[in-house]
Amino acid sequence: MKVLKFGGTSVGSVNSILSVKKIVEAIEEPVIVVVSALGGITDKLLATSSMAAKGDVGYEREFSEIITRHLDVIQGVIPDKMQRIEVQKKVMSLLDELGNIFKGVYLINDLSAKTSDTIVSYGERISSLIVSNVIEDAKLFDSRKFIKTLKQFNKHIVDFEQTNQLIKETFNPLPKVSLVPGFISSSTENGEVTNLGRGGSDYTASILATALDANVLEIWTDVDGFMTADPRVISSAYVIDRLTFTEAMELCNFGAKVIYPPTIYPVYHKNIPIRILNTFNPEAPGTYISKEKVKEEGKAIIKGISSINDTCLITVQGLGMVGVIGVNYRIFKTLAKSGISVFMVSQASSENNTTFAVRNADADLAVQVLDEEFALERAQGDMNDTVAEKDLATVAIVGENMKRTPGIAGKLFGTLGSAGISVIACAQGASETNISFVIKHKYLRKALNSIHDSFFLSQYKVLNLFIAGVGTVGGNLLEQIRIQQPKLMEQNGLKLNVVGIANSKRALFLREGLNLENCIDELKKNGEESSPEHLKEEILKMNIFNSVFVDCTATPAVSDLYETLLNNNVSVVAANKVAASSSYSNYIKLKETARHRGVKFLFETNVGAGLPIINTMNDLRNSGDHILKLEAVLSGTLNYIFNTLSAEIPFSKAILMAKEEGYSEPDPRIDLSGKDVLRKLVILAREAGYKVEQEDVKRNLFVPDKYFEGSLDDFWCKVKELDAEFENKRQQLEAEGKRFRFVAKMDKGVCEIGLQTVDSHHPFYELEGSNNIIMISTERYHEYPMIIKGYGAGADVTAAGVFADIISIANIR
Ligand code: ADP
Ligand code: ASP
Ligand code: MG
Repeated sequence: MKVLKFGGTSVGSVNSILSVKKIVEAIEEPVIVVVSALGGITDKLLATSSMAAKGDVGYEREFSEIITRHLDVIQGVIPDKMQRIEVQKKVMSLLDELGNIFKGVYLINDLSAKTSDTIVSYGERISSLIVSNVIEDAKLFDSRKFIKTLKQFNKHIVDFEQTNQLIKETFNPLPKVSLVPGFISSSTENGEVTNLGRGGSDYTASILATALDANVLEIWTDVDGFMTADPRVISSAYVIDRLTFTEAMELCNFGAKVIYPPTIYPVYHKNIPIRILNTFNPEAPGTYISKEKVKEEGKAIIKGISSINDTCLITVQGLGMVGVIGVNYRIFKTLAKSGISVFMVSQASSENNTTFAVRNADADLAVQVLDEEFALERAQGDMNDTVAEKDLATVAIVGENMKRTPGIAGKLFGTLGSAGISVIACAQGASETNISFVIKHKYLRKALNSIHDSFFLSQYKVLNLFIAGVGTVGGNLLEQIRIQQPKLMEQNGLKLNVVGIANSKRALFLREGLNLENCIDELKKNGEESSPEHLKEEILKMNIFNSVFVDCTATPAVSDLYETLLNNNVSVVAANKVAASSSYSNYIKLKETARHRGVKFLFETNVGAGLPIINTMNDLRNSGDHILKLEAVLSGTLNYIFNTLSAEIPFSKAILMAKEEGYSEPDPRIDLSGKDVLRKLVILAREAGYKVEQEDVKRNLFVPDKYFEGSLDDFWCKVKELDAEFENKRQQLEAEGKRFRFVAKMDKGVCEIGLQTVDSHHPFYELEGSNNIIMISTERYHEYPMIIKGYGAGADVTAAGVFADIISIANIR
């Protein structure tokens, strides 16, 4: 024989009850069918009771909804009119009784535990009555007659001696189909109605399966099986094929709602396997839970993750505890006497404190009784007052294959660390099947996601990106990510999830990842109003793991966010030069914060767009080389201007052309003044290991200061005055076989920028279009400096450089 349990959603609607009928009627052997109340009814009965107890007449409306819900279901599931009327009559008579009880509660404004238990029992009594009339030849039983409970610490625990015997008597002979209400029971002592606790129908089914030696216990619910994590929190959770009883027990005890925790022990004891199946997808194989440990090749070492968000940590502490025998005995004896359940314990080997986890609701009582127990020691100063820290969450990772597999705790805590989550307490039993730890409640979702990602989805590493600035560079980057995404997933196991984008006015966020086909349009149409400050708040609020902030703006207010973001374990990739060229102390602080937090602060594109300059210098230095000198053409705009000057194209026209080609800054004076080159040189000198500020750089400018005063329009008028002079110089240079180059130099930390002429032997002579070039002289590259040359400007190469920085964070090489 088998025992099948159908949960609330499985009997919650007409269609689901018809599925139940189909599933049960297809079984040939005898079955016992245990049902819950119609989905949501237990909650509603409890809510209606408390309204009535508060004297809120609104309870009547709630109650009438309960009536309608049941009558509607009857109407849909029982086609035969005569039978339907009969069932309606019986159900209405139960509902009348219930109505009278509600009325009583309302009138006397009092709801005792006994009355509440009575009220809540109607859910299962009515659902079982209805379903027994739907399934062919089903015989209805009343579980209050054979599930018996005893009272212990205000809880009803099963009286197995009575219960097992009564079950054996009741189901002898065993009908083909028996229909049993789950959850409800009655007291051995006085026969009053009791229940097995929320979710208790699973337990009813387990008790029956055990007493009658069933072949299998089937729990039919609304998901395809036991999953690697709660699917409501982790959308990528998937079904686990097989679990051992121990693993299932560990996961349920830590909040995997799919099975009520006490369910497992009775069947485990008799070695009766459990199957978790989906009423809405009966073909799915589900999860098989048994004693056997099956090592599945290629499967994750841990089986699942579960969590309890209702956690309070209590700490009993004092130097007077060290080496004293019996302190823990007294702690746990005191808690047990008050009926407080402890679900995690951690004691440092110094014995100076014992920390344990209880539910928030038990916390105050626990503190009170422990303070009383240790009153004397506290008075003598041997022990401190008991401390409670509330609003925490406990997470457990579970799997029997963890046993003697090194590195799991390392991976777990490493993952949490890089997500910026600090562990407040942790425990691992010697059985090594469960590692539990306590964190702040606000980090729960992030912790579950990052652990799930690192243990179960190892075929994909996820980076979550926030991109600020979606103009030329940012827009190009989004497009490059869109095109490259499938390849990165397939070849490198990297998934880039763009979870937020922003321009100067608006922002758009989506935890699951934005659609890169249309997110910029979407931002313009439906983005929320935003500012750098708002952007920062949203990013911190999303509290997402493995995240990277990508700054494709040129705005100081955006670079001001880096420090907070880095401090919250968000890596930063900046095309924006403001931060790296700001004061030396700020630059160092950002780099140190990143290192301290184990995240990255990268800005390769600050110099030479996509050219690998900063990375190369870092590689040289990290391998023990010293950078002595740098000489470079770092302005694509200026180089373009000097390459474009000709007899036909005067200086002012060349500037205009650079602007039109998109090389120059919107205000080309920033390029002409050498400001842009200066910032780049400062960044390079710092990355070469020298402490340099912008003011330290000597400037030999070629456009006199007066051209930088006034408006941009003034500039366009005035700049023509320089054309003749430049044409003169140009002719002279042409005759000498030389060219203009705007050069940035650093010699052991001494920096200068300025216009220079180079002859045809100089490496800078042949430097086409807007290209950049840098010569790096080091101790190793001394006689012949290392040269890096190529496109030094342009949205696509800059975006590609930003992209490369992002990829380097994923470390997929
Ligand atoms: P029933 O009414 O059938 O007893 P429950 O709501 O008690 O159903 O339990 C099933 C629900 O448990 C699922 O819908 C799912 O949302 C939740 N759940 C939490 N953790 C897990 C997990 N690890 N695997 C499967 N389901 C889980
Ligand atoms: N109906 C009860 C509850 O909602 C028991 C159960 O569904 O298992 O808790
Ligand atoms: Mg349940």
